[in-house]
Amino acid sequence: MKKFLVIYSIIFLSGIFSAPPVFAETVVYNVETKKVHKVTCPHAQKCTKNCIKIDRKDAYNQGGKPCKTCGG
Ligand SMILES: [Zn+2]
Repeated sequence: MKKFLVIYSIIFLSGIFSAPPVFAETVVYNVETKKVHKVTCPHAQKCTKNCIKIDRKDAYNQGGKPCKTCGG
């Protein structure tokens, strides 16, 4: 049972870190300007320094504001 959990965790974690997130809920959040971007937004693709990929609800919970270009 314990071994199963370990294997499951490895599969789960490697899925997060290897594949680009394709979940609809994942957004790019600029921690400096607090702007929330869709992953496909041009601003998100230019933003490499202060941006993190997080869940949309987490971004807004942290005070995120929707980007005017992509709507967040
Ligand atoms: Zn945007």
